[in-house]
Amino acid sequence: AAKYTGTDRSREHSPSLDATAQHHAELAAALRRGLELGEFRLLYQPIVELPTGALSGVEALIRWHPSDRPVISPAEFIPVAEHSGLIIDLGAWIIDQACTDAATWQDRHGTAPRVNINVSARQLLDPSLPPLVADTLHRHGLTPESITIEITETAVFAGGAALETVRELRELGVGLALDDFGTGHSSLTLLRTCPVTTLKVDKSFIDDLNGTAEQEAIASSLSTIASTLGLRAVAEGVETRDQVDRLHALGYRYAQGYYFARPIPAEEIDALLNTPIPTP
Ligand code: C2E
Ligand code: MG
Ligand code: MG
Ligand code: MG
Repeated sequence: AAKYTGTDRSREHSPSLDATAQHHAELAAALRRGLELGEFRLLYQPIVELPTGALSGVEALIRWHPSDRPVISPAEFIPVAEHSGLIIDLGAWIIDQACTDAATWQDRHGTAPRVNINVSARQLLDPSLPPLVADTLHRHGLTPESITIEITETAVFAGGAALETVRELRELGVGLALDDFGTGHSSLTLLRTCPVTTLKVDKSFIDDLNGTAEQEAIASSLSTIASTLGLRAVAEGVETRDQVDRLHALGYRYAQGYYFARPIPAEEIDALLNTPIPTP
């Protein structure tokens, strides 16, 4: 419920709020239709090993291609999908599609990069998520180690049930990554209670790596925390060669960003699997 602040603004007629609500309702309906019509695609962004740039994993990132409009980014429609509850069905599609692609790579190349799959707060509140993940892996003949589920701190704190879901996911044997690490309110507290395997250090800590001593000290500490706890640290949003050099010096073993590759279709990942690992 909205806080009472003296003037009850929620009762005033607000055309802009109505317009936003209307826009969301239309978007939610279009999303539902889009799911039925197969308008969603998953792209995959490589996660590479430093300093070689060898492919270590990929992150599945969703795109929506409505027939009558240009591609819409997840930042715009995931919140609407969450609010409307459609994220449950959309999320099931995402997990199935990512596993389909992983199984295809596995068949074609005898090996597949580990696939990171983003799940949102609402999905973590759904107790049927862990059995759904287990069933999907099983249907595609994949081991739990084939995938890593990416969650955010905010999502884990959404409610007590979220942490329970996360624990059950980890018990299945899938990897668990804390996305946008360091940007939440209690990142360090979470490390005591949440059984993660990977920290994805947020782009904001990687951006000015060559800017200030403070920035470098923070990035360095985050990598140390990860290795002390036996976790992987992945640097997010790496865009320059300078950043790569600094990250390597600071002990980062994994990185992801436009410097290495943008999110690309599954077939282009095939091409990378055919390419021998570059030597340093
Ligand atoms: P995220 O999980 O933190 O994903 C990283 C975002 O950073 C992606 O944006 C990626 O394209 C972008 N990125 C990667 N490298 C660079 C770089 O070097 N520079 C810059 N400027 N950006 C970079 P994208 O694909 O637009 O996704 C945005 C967010 O939407 C994701 O953030 C994630 O929270 C959410 N999302 C994407 N796909 C899914 C999905 O399948 N399910 C759920 N629940 N959320 C998703
Ligand atoms: Mg992510
Ligand atoms: Mg991320
Ligand atoms: Mg991020």
